Amino acid sequence: MTDKSSESKSFKEQFIDPVAGFGVTFRTMFRKVVTEQYPFEKQPTAPRFHGRHQLNRWPDGLEKCIGCELCAWACPADAIYVEGASNSDDVANGGERFSPGERYGRVYQINYLRCILCGLCIEACPTRALTMTNEYELADDNRTDLIYEKSDLLAPLLPGMEQPPHPMADGLDEGDYYRGIFAGNTTPAGTAGEPR
Ligand code: SF4
Ligand code: SF4
Repeated sequence: MTDKSSESKSFKEQFIDPVAGFGVTFRTMFRKVVTEQYPFEKQPTAPRFHGRHQLNRWPDGLEKCIGCELCAWACPADAIYVEGASNSDDVANGGERFSPGERYGRVYQINYLRCILCGLCIEACPTRALTMTNEYELADDNRTDLIYEKSDLLAPLLPGMEQPPHPMADGLDEGDYYRGIFAGNTTPAGTAGEPR
């Protein structure tokens, strides 16, 4: 008895096509492997990659954020929450200064469950307080830890910086800070060594 299904198949379908399939496998075996061994080997990102945010400081350690909420209003995902408060130099009566000028960001949160890393917030920031780093490892096993607080986002203190609260540098007002006129620092505001 003859197998009707094999009779109806052409020579190419019966013999060439199965071998051609293995041909793809053999060709690929000798190609350069493109698999990335993340997280054991991490590839560098593009220099302007939009990763985790950072709240920057002035050269004396004062915070650049003035608590204006422009970043929160610009955010299309409603991922930023800011509460501003007033600075005061009246130390005798409990006054504290965290930034030059009138206001600072008392509460600052970014919810990375919502953030789409679009960068609109950093464009809106008038003092370049908010920038984005290249850090992309933002996964976690619970929702709470993905809401980053101000303490998680503030830039580290570099040599010469002092942890706020403290007064503005001697003889300077907030305008001097915003214009980048700062002792030992003539770089225009917002351009010195900050990530994008
Ligand atoms: S990067 Fe975009 S989504 Fe994320 S906080 Fe900024 S504006 Fe919102
Ligand atoms: S990060 Fe910038 S835009 Fe946002 S509250 Fe602070 S100063 Fe304003």
